[in-house]
Amino acid sequence: MAKLQCSKRVFHKDGAFGEDYPCESSGVVIRSDGGLWCSQHDPEAVAKRRNAQQAKWDAKFNPLQMEKEARAEEAAARAALCVAACEGVTDEVLESLTPGELTAIVKRHLRRELLEQAADG
Ligand SMILES: [Zn+2]
Repeated sequence: MAKLQCSKRVFHKDGAFGEDYPCESSGVVIRSDGGLWCSQHDPEAVAKRRNAQQAKWDAKFNPLQMEKEARAEEAAARAALCVAACEGVTDEVLESLTPGELTAIVKRHLRRELLEQAADG
């Protein structure tokens, strides 16, 4: 019995430009268009993959999501800066500091880092 091939016509990756040939895979599903399709070229599977990709893209480039991620990155950078600035400071001392004193420590640390960067570069 002859293999029932997929209805999709595909193009060679190389070779004669513009010439297509039937997909070599076996057809596994018949759709309402009357076509027999392999799992790769089944129009429903193609649409499903395209929609999934679009949803992924929309989620990735959603302005609200991007802003949220930017804020999270900024917060993480600030937290890392605070941790680095307070390195070596005991919990006891940290707890005794006022918010203003803590800010001053972080600013001094940042200034020192910037000076070091300027000296390196
Ligand atoms: Zn196919």
